[in-house]
Amino acid sequence: MNHFDVAVVGYGPIGQMLALLLGARGHRVVVAEKFPEPYAMPRAVHADHEVARILQQAGVRPDTSPIIGPFDSMVEFRNAARETLLELDWRGLGPSGWPVGNFFSQPEGTR
Ligand SMILES: Cc1cc2nc3c(=O)[nH]c(=O)nc-3n(C[C@H](O)[C@H](O)[C@H](O)COP(=O)(O)OP(=O)(O)OC[C@H]3O[C@@H](n4cnc5c(N)ncnc54)[C@H](O)[C@@H]3O)c2cc1C
Repeated sequence: MNHFDVAVVGYGPIGQMLALLLGARGHRVVVAEKFPEPYAMPRAVHADHEVARILQQAGVRPDTSPIIGPFDSMVEFRNAARETLLELDWRGLGPSGWPVGNFFSQPEGTR
């Protein structure tokens, strides 16, 4: 009989990161995932500065990773009539010190 401190249900990005960070802190973690393989399609390309800080805790520095790059600009989503639907300010650094906008490449990021 194995005993664990934490059971994580689901091995998506949140479950993976949670298991990794808990394991790094010495907790015994078991993960239950209903599918035998990770979902094959990439589902994220951008992370904000708070995610960058979490990645740093896991040993992935956004400023040295070959698959993560800063995106220092405004982003505007428009409809077919060129009316602005959404404006995002992804310029500069966040309170954590990491860029507000970070783009990354999958599937490399999940290996
Ligand atoms: C097209 C698209 C683009 C996106 N772009 C971005 C982006 O640029 N930036 C960003 O931050 N986010 C983006 N997202 C959102 C991001 O993909 C999700 O927020 C993220 O996948 C959520 O992770 P999760 O681990 O919480 O859930 P999921 O990725 O849904 O993983 C949950 C896991 O739990 C498993 N599971 C579920 N129920 C059970 C059960 N009962 N027992 C065992 N296992 C179970 C599932 O099989 C799955 O593997 C995007 C999403 C889509 C669809």
